[in-house]
Amino acid sequence: EKGKPLMLNPRTNKGMAFSLEERQILGIHGLLPPKVETQNLQTWRFQNNLKKMTDPLQKYIYLMGIQERNERLFYRVLMEGIEELMPIVYTPTVGLACTQYGNIFRRPKGLFISILDRGHVRSILDNWPETNVSAVVVTDGERILGLGDLGVYGMGIPVGKLCLYTACAGIRPEKCLPVVIDVGTDNETLLKDPLYMGLYQKRDRSQAYDDLIDEFMEAVVDKYGHGTLIQFEDFGNHNAFRFLRKYREKYCTFNDDIQGTAAVALAGLLAARRAVGIPITEQRVLFLGAGEAALGIANLIVMAMMETGLAQAEARKKIWMYDKDGLLVKGRPQESDIDQKPFVHDSPGNIESFLDAVNTIKPTAIIGVAGAGHLFTHDVIKAMGTLNERPIIFALSNPTNKAECTAEEAYTLTDGRCLFASGSPFSPVTLSDGRVFTPGQGNNSYIFPGVALAVILSGVRHISDTVFLEAAKTLAEQVTDKELKEGRLYPPLSNIREVSLQMAVKVVEYVYAKGMAFHYPEPMDKNGFVRATVWNTDYDSFLPDTYDWPGVSFSPK
Ligand code: NAP
Ligand code: MN
Repeated sequence: EKGKPLMLNPRTNKGMAFSLEERQILGIHGLLPPKVETQNLQTWRFQNNLKKMTDPLQKYIYLMGIQERNERLFYRVLMEGIEELMPIVYTPTVGLACTQYGNIFRRPKGLFISILDRGHVRSILDNWPETNVSAVVVTDGERILGLGDLGVYGMGIPVGKLCLYTACAGIRPEKCLPVVIDVGTDNETLLKDPLYMGLYQKRDRSQAYDDLIDEFMEAVVDKYGHGTLIQFEDFGNHNAFRFLRKYREKYCTFNDDIQGTAAVALAGLLAARRAVGIPITEQRVLFLGAGEAALGIANLIVMAMMETGLAQAEARKKIWMYDKDGLLVKGRPQESDIDQKPFVHDSPGNIESFLDAVNTIKPTAIIGVAGAGHLFTHDVIKAMGTLNERPIIFALSNPTNKAECTAEEAYTLTDGRCLFASGSPFSPVTLSDGRVFTPGQGNNSYIFPGVALAVILSGVRHISDTVFLEAAKTLAEQVTDKELKEGRLYPPLSNIREVSLQMAVKVVEYVYAKGMAFHYPEPMDKNGFVRATVWNTDYDSFLPDTYDWPGVSFSPK
């Protein structure tokens, strides 16, 4: 590519960082102001502009705009300010951006496949300009964060997730493909909105939907190979479990809402165990919510308990769930799903409320994953404080306004004794006696980029749950004792790149040791192997490789 198209392509554009020589050779001299800038200066300009903005959505639009113009600069800015900017490109602001998608739309990102395209998915994939994709994040928009059905507006989620693949784990952006599958939406507001951008129809729940997803999976591996990682994101509960069961042995796939969440929550519990000294096998966990997140976490806790010697049945007995219809107990009128069955126990007595459940079951930990808002009431938090010396309280529902309680409530009402984590970020809390607590963010981004990098590099064909168990253990080990004292259950987000790389190294070691890796030959130095692949944001030079042949004469001797 030469000339103006090179400047219009975000992958090649360097803005004013094109050197004078490059400008002349590429035929773009005069199309830019005469000054030549460094990437440092460009970064500084964008950071300054971001600082001036107060509205998170405005920051989101601005950042996405940089991504559309100059990709390397975008990632440089994102990586340098990851702690402040992750809440913009990811939860909570990405949720707002999804709801506003039709208003803030500039240029399309990602691939849109609709139910009308059945039979032609492969041709749509062929329109995607990249030939070397190794990771796909796909949603059908039915359960975007805790915001519900946003139809095709859900595209913000795969786009945001893949930004973190690159920013956190150094996976090259051209290897990442965001996809939204549009089978309609049941969101009445969107169906009535003239600006909506998807199909104006109710969600197709017929066989045609399943056929479309089947066709999509086949088309992806047909085009990009069997090792292509396919991450499912924000599907409705029923479909999420079904597809995970259906595809996990056939494709290289995982569901982040089930398995990624599980790993990050278990890591929090393992770190809490380090802080409190109660072994995982002695925890009693009560979930608010019994969906994808709750069941994913519960199953991984069971695996962790079994690893330390507990029988499966015993481990399951330590886990309780409370959903819209109350505690999951035998004989209740509401039929439970097949995945919930292991956690449906004999009724412990008459339970009328979540507070009753807390007081009866006496959990060491409560985990909120209902996506239904502020349901850890003051009484619930206080009860946890009475029952436990160090209660574990995780309010994981996203975005922020769906969290079960705030960090401030959790710390204040337990007099600073609780171990708290949330799904969306909360600021540090200062108690009246001056003690400061830094709440942990049980953010899936601690898990999926590192796991994805390891899976891609080592050629894992099928991702087993043990991989997520390993990832959780690695994450928990990376919290320092000092951080634990400050109330942190996760390493600071500013460290996420190093956290992700170390996790990738550990997971690579694990999958080779277990014979799950298919990339040959096995690299002896796993650490070097992982780090050598990491993409960086330095600009490439466009100058041709020019050199001399000194001393050569082209006259006959
Ligand atoms: P889901 O599969 O739809 O599950 C939601 C569960 O909550 C269902 O069991 C539902 O019960 C229950 N529920 C709904 N309203 C309730 C109420 N008022 N009281 C008690 N239970 C209620 O969704 P999910 O994937 O598990 O996600 C749930 C939330 O967790 C979302 O807000 C999501 O953003 C968040 N999440 C956070 C993280 C993270 O921070 N790392 C990761 C994943 C998900 P019924 O089935 O009876 O309706
Ligand atoms: Mn999700």
